[in-house]
This record gives sequence, structure tokens and C-alpha cells, in this order.
Amino acid sequence: MSVHVIGAGLAGLAAACQLTELGHHVVVLEAAPHAGGRARSYFDKQLGCRIDNGNHLMMSGNISALSYLHRIGARRSLLGPAEPIFPFRSIKTGEAWTLHLNHGSFPWWIFSKTRRVPGTQLHHYRSLLKFKRAKPNDTVTGLIGGSGALFNKLLKPMAISALNTMPEEASATALQSVISETMERGGYATLPRWARVGLSETFIDPAIDWLRAHGAEIRFSERVTALTPGQATVVATPPWIAAELIPGLVVPAEFESICNIHFKCQMPPGEAGFWGLVGGISEWVFARPDVVSVTISAANRYLGIDAEEMVRRVWAELVKVFALDAEIPAHRVLWERRATFRTTPEQMKLRPNTRTSNPNVVLAGDWTDTGLPATIEGAIRSGNAAAMALMRPIG
Ligand SMILES: Cc1cc2nc3c(=O)[nH]c(=O)nc-3n(C[C@H](O)[C@H](O)[C@H](O)COP(=O)(O)OP(=O)(O)OC[C@H]3O[C@@H](n4cnc5c(N)ncnc54)[C@H](O)[C@@H]3O)c2cc1C
Repeated sequence: MSVHVIGAGLAGLAAACQLTELGHHVVVLEAAPHAGGRARSYFDKQLGCRIDNGNHLMMSGNISALSYLHRIGARRSLLGPAEPIFPFRSIKTGEAWTLHLNHGSFPWWIFSKTRRVPGTQLHHYRSLLKFKRAKPNDTVTGLIGGSGALFNKLLKPMAISALNTMPEEASATALQSVISETMERGGYATLPRWARVGLSETFIDPAIDWLRAHGAEIRFSERVTALTPGQATVVATPPWIAAELIPGLVVPAEFESICNIHFKCQMPPGEAGFWGLVGGISEWVFARPDVVSVTISAANRYLGIDAEEMVRRVWAELVKVFALDAEIPAHRVLWERRATFRTTPEQMKLRPNTRTSNPNVVLAGDWTDTGLPATIEGAIRSGNAAAMALMRPIG
């Protein structure tokens, strides 16, 4: 069978690999002159080096992403600590702590004062069980409240980074889907991982090479404006494009931005290579070989602030926490306006199924109803699901 895959982001590439593996002739049509969509690397002339459009963190429990990397021969291109550790710093107080899970699924770490979140007691962790009973309309703070050390030092940063939505608005069931596939399965599933060199070198370029080597066609700068009747097609575009291609399709319509600031400087990688920061603007800091990168998720709340003012404030935080030189180094601000859909209970309900009313047309994308928030794992899982749905028409 000949299949068109529209969009060469992670969802489209995962679908294309799955269909190619199953022996179908795949043509990938991508509007941009390059693949990767919202997860890509490029050479930045201002900084004189390659950077990612944004820091992307995944977990060892992201099994669909790991098997995708295995298929395209890139599994070894991930980097991360051997232990499930998450070093944190408080911007306000300078306090430093490292969340240190244990490998197995029973959470021994919550019994250890040095491994759990400082300021928490054993009984506080009972509130995590509430997520198991979360209902579709529950928000994170609606379910567990919005105060206390466990919230401020763990659940809030987790909700903001995994759901790209502030916890007062974020869906509790979406956070539970992340918890159940990582922390709940233990430290082995919660090892932090990221691309050793860059997103394209790990997730994108090896997939393009693999697809071409297996007979698939990849056509860049091919913007699809209408579906070809009767053609088996995976629509793996962002939701607003899918809604244009498929009239009547209901899709999430509210989005959150993510701001990444890349500073051309070096700092020692510490025990993990990254830090979570609480109590300021900066949320995650990655020490790459020639760049220090800061991620600010759910960044719509800062849209009114001028980009250079953001740089000043974020650098001041890094200076305070890591005792860096006060002079701001060369930098690049990348503000992805529609980084993900807003993971609110309302938007979650608008996520469509893989199948459409046309049996020849299926959907892929982190915005489809994967059960996960908009993440690498969700995007890849949606691509696999789309490929399988096309192969198994209803009935
Ligand atoms: C700054 C940032 C940081 C992130 N951090 C993380 C993280 O830490 N961890 C994590 O797991 N996830 C993270 N994500 C989310 C992750 O990047 C996305 O979930 C994933 O890349 C989405 O892939 P996709 O294929 O669904 O969509 P996209 O990447 O948007 O792919 C859609 C593709 O369709 C193409 N297209 C659009 N219109 C057409 C058309 N008409 N014809 C042909 N092609 C078309 C686009 O050019 C694009 O290549 C982050 C995202 C951003 C933006």
C-alpha cells in the first residue's frame, strides 16, 4: 500500500517508520525545508554553534520513544545520569537539594530525609494517591491544593514542565498519566534523559536516514493544502492545520508557549547535567558543552515582558544561584508561541481519536487523544497508533 504522511515532526516520522517497517511505500510530505517540527536543532549564527529549539527532557519510562530510537539506531545517543536524581535549587533562599528516587517500584526514597523533598514528611506523600482517583474535570491544585513543600518543590515544577500549563489550570488526569508511567513504576522508569548532541542528531536525522534506506520518500518544502481522495493518509500536522484539511474536525484550540534562553558560556555539569530551579522565572537549566540553556514553560504569563528584560532577569537568577560572572554572555531567546496545547480539562476533551470518519485518513500528533500530555512520548505513540489504525480498518 502507498501511504502519504503529512508532516515530518516526531509523530509523522514515527508513523512513517512503523508503516515502512510493515512493508508499505511511504511518502512523507513536509511543509518546511527540514524535518523535526517542534523538536529540531539548527546552527545559530549569533552563537556560532548548533542549538535545539528548546531543551527536551524525557524519562527512561518513555517506552515508545525508546523503541523508536532503537528502530532508527539512535538509542545510544541519549545522555543522562545513571541514578534517578533531580537536583534542585531555590532562587529565593539558595537552598539546594536532590530528589533521589530508588530504582525499584516501591518508593523507599520517601522514607529518607536526604532523598525526599526537604520540608516534607512521610504522610505528605499520601496526597499523591489522590491523583489515582482524579476525574476528567479536576485540576492539579483543585485536587491536592496549592501550598506546602511537596507542592512547591515537586508537583508544581512537575506540572509546569510536563503539562506546560500552570497547576491551577492543568488537568490532574494528565499529570497522573505521567506519574503512572514514570515515578509510579520506580526509578528505573524515571531516569532523566536528553539528546547527547542535539534533538535532530538523536530523534530526526537518524529517522530520515533510516526511512530513505528502507525505500521511503521524504519531500521537503511540500505544503499540503488538500487531501487526495482515496489516498491512504496520516495527517501529522499541528491541530489547526489538521482542522483545515479535515472540515468539521474538533481539535484543541488553546496553546501555551515555552521560552528557551541559550547563553554562550560554560558551567560545570554538576551531578546530573541539569537543575530544576524554584521560586523565580527560570525553571530548568541545562549545562551543555558550550551553552547554558534555560527553559521557562507555561510562558504565556511572561508574554508582556520584553525578551531582553527576560534575559536580564534570568541571567540575574543564574548569577545568584550558580555564582556566575555578572556580565551577560551572547545569548539567543527562542520563544515557541504554540509549543503545546494548554493541558486543561477543557482542552483535553477536544483531543480527537486517531481515526476520522474517512477510513483512509488517520490522525497523529501530540494533540490527539494519546492519554499523555503533549510530549515526545505522546507524539511518537500517536504516530505508532495512526500507522496501526490505517492497517486495521474498523470491521
Ligand atoms: C520549546 C519546546 C520544548 C519542549 N520540551 C519538551 C520536553 O522537554 N519533553 C517532551 O517530551 N516534549 C517537549 N516538547 C514537546 C515536543 O516537542 C512535541 O510534543 C513534539 O515535538 C510534537 O511532535 P508532532 O509531530 O506531534 O508535531 P510537530 O513537531 O508540530 O510536527 C508537525 C509537522 O507538520 C508540518 N506541517 C505543518 N503544516 C503542514 C502542511 N500543510 N503540509 C505538510 N507539513 C506540514 C510542520 O512543519 C511540522 O514539521 C517541547 C516542545 C517545545 C516547542
